[in-house]
Amino acid sequence: MSAFGEDAADATAVVAKAAIEMAEPDHDCPRCPRLVAFRSANRTEHPDWFNAPVATFGAGDAWLLIVGLAPGLRGANRTGRPFTGDFAGNLLYETLLACGLASGTYAQRADDGLRLIGCAITNAVRCVPPQNKPLPAEIANCRVFLQATIDALPNLRAIIALGRLAHESVVRAFGQKLAALPFAHGREHALASLGRNLTLFDSYHCSRYNTNTAVLTPPMFRDVFDRALKLIAVPAE
Ligand code: SF4
Repeated sequence: MSAFGEDAADATAVVAKAAIEMAEPDHDCPRCPRLVAFRSANRTEHPDWFNAPVATFGAGDAWLLIVGLAPGLRGANRTGRPFTGDFAGNLLYETLLACGLASGTYAQRADDGLRLIGCAITNAVRCVPPQNKPLPAEIANCRVFLQATIDALPNLRAIIALGRLAHESVVRAFGQKLAALPFAHGREHALASLGRNLTLFDSYHCSRYNTNTAVLTPPMFRDVFDRALKLIAVPAE
């Protein structure tokens, strides 16, 4: 599957599209033995599912990157698109559509024609982990692809991390200390390394548990995106 849901409109977009697709792991990436075994078992049990590393979804000219933790078993691992097909995508895509960061209709399918506008969605870990819990070594293994995705987005100004583990992988990807940039919902952090200056926004993950328990409400989630949109309204220095 392409990392993009649409054809590039001009030469710049074609170059950006190629760069972000090169940031993706192979369909049979072997770096995490436990996840490879789980992938293999799922391919046997559910041969009609995607069952592979889930590529970044979005535009190569994205100014905003949304980083989740890992594909859900019956969500992205089944459909092949981040946050698509299970509960976690409902609030995310509803919010993106309401903010003007997406167009179309979210129908819980990778072929629903939904398009992202100025943003992209990825996961800190590209393969589905058992019980939705990647090991620290697996998060570290997959960071090379997160870093490559960030590098492939030249217009990036902001990252929204969904949950503590996504936040920590982003902070490590920028070579910064976790103790200096602790996770908290609604917090903003300055990320700077290798000539990149970005703002990291933290949010609780839009999981079924967090939303059902009101740990994360739709207004709380929307507020994080509104603050990122305010940032992009100010020209880059
Ligand atoms: S989680 Fe990432 S590094 Fe590990 S096997 Fe999957 S794609 Fe490769």
